[in-house]
Amino acid sequence: MTQAVSKPATQGTSPRVIAGWKRPDAADATARDGGSLVQLDAHTYDRALACVHCGLCLPACPTYTQNGLEADSPRGRIYLMKGLADGQIAPTPAVINHLDLCLDCRACETACPSGVVYHELIETTRAQLNDLRPTTIIDKVLSLIFFHIFPFRSRVRLAILPARVLQRIGLWRVLTRGTLAKLLPKQLAKMQQMMPDRGSLWQQRLAERFDADPTGTINGIPRATVALLDGCVGSVMFHDVNQQTVEVLQKAGCDVLVPRAQECCGAIPHHGGRLDQAKALARHNIDTFMPIDGPRPDFIVNNAAGCGAMLKEYDHLLRDDAQYAPRAKQFVSRVRDISELLVELDPPRPEHEVNRQVTYHDACHLAHGQKLTAPPRTVLSWIKGLDVVPLPDSEMCCGAAGTYNLSNPRMARELAERKIKHVQETGARVCVAGNVGCSMQIQSEAHRLGVTLKVTHPVSLLHEAYFGCTAVAGDSEQTSHNGDGS
Ligand code: SF4
Ligand code: SF4
Repeated sequence: MTQAVSKPATQGTSPRVIAGWKRPDAADATARDGGSLVQLDAHTYDRALACVHCGLCLPACPTYTQNGLEADSPRGRIYLMKGLADGQIAPTPAVINHLDLCLDCRACETACPSGVVYHELIETTRAQLNDLRPTTIIDKVLSLIFFHIFPFRSRVRLAILPARVLQRIGLWRVLTRGTLAKLLPKQLAKMQQMMPDRGSLWQQRLAERFDADPTGTINGIPRATVALLDGCVGSVMFHDVNQQTVEVLQKAGCDVLVPRAQECCGAIPHHGGRLDQAKALARHNIDTFMPIDGPRPDFIVNNAAGCGAMLKEYDHLLRDDAQYAPRAKQFVSRVRDISELLVELDPPRPEHEVNRQVTYHDACHLAHGQKLTAPPRTVLSWIKGLDVVPLPDSEMCCGAAGTYNLSNPRMARELAERKIKHVQETGARVCVAGNVGCSMQIQSEAHRLGVTLKVTHPVSLLHEAYFGCTAVAGDSEQTSHNGDGS
């Protein structure tokens, strides 16, 4: 249990006025029994106090730069969250909306000179606001999908099976572009729009063990034993990228393990404020990847920025768990993004040329969540013939942000349009992104806009450079998405 902080006596004092935001009338307020409904532990409350209101984070914030509202800026949201914790502000629907519109992209943390760790503040606050949100039928459907289907790979496989069958028999495009698509609520329409036109009917899992390629080892000794987190949604939708990741790691001289018992990293429930579910998943993965009695890998690697950022948060998530806190620290010390690990291992460089012009988009949870901007670019620089054109505002969120593009489709769409416009300015027809969520968001929105663009993972290009071809089905040049699979 975290200890609630005693707040200074603030009753009767006025909170500072935030431009673009009107303090809710007391009559609108949810009854609070004279106290605050949001209780922050001392550690998290200090995160809010660290903000000196300088505003340097504002130009980095996607929502503020999109709508210009102070209440949709990091500084404004910190005011709101501190006001909620102090009992000065009531959790009205308007206040909750401003907080829900935050992408949790963490660009403000990168920009902040005071070291405000914003994501802990927003995630803790959101978790406590869950019961206060108005709930529609659509919200209930989304909640079912987000928290009871997405984190379970077998349920994801089952859920997308009808769509895969329709793709195979050529009816998917007819149905999704016809009247039926127009009748869908916008959140479900967005989900349908992002369904990749790749993958088999029933995606098989990767084998549990792969041996290092002798050419990548050091005098026959593997550089490392690496355990891959293959993801819940990612293992079904982006099996090809996982397969390529394994093959690239083998080529880099690693023995690769893919533990069968692993589960979702917990990012989806964590972002949704379901901390108990996220903690249970974290404990399970620690037991699976770092067993007390069994062999442990040198590294735990992943290829999805959102998953990687979550894995690196396990020590914070389980900080109050006496049994798991020390094990979580050990776990986190071994977690690496695939690009980070490859740079660290410094394997033999790929031989084949990939003569292509691309641009690189910084996934938020790589650039801001894990502070990894150089390693993906370094890995791309190993590829002969590859021309990487700088992308304006490459660190600005594309609107994917986990399940944000499903729960806030309008803002997500505006941000995707901004991203695609910048990609077009580079002249490149290929956008490289190290996160499956970004890939689905940018690719599907490019398709909607009729823009010729392929989104690919850095590992896919590296795989092509090592093996001389795009060897895995589904990564062929494609300018469309959401097709019928033909
Ligand atoms: S996390 Fe992103 S969207 Fe949220 S306040 Fe910070 S910069 Fe803005
Ligand atoms: S940059 Fe940091 S200190 Fe300045 S307003 Fe933003 S969060 Fe607060």
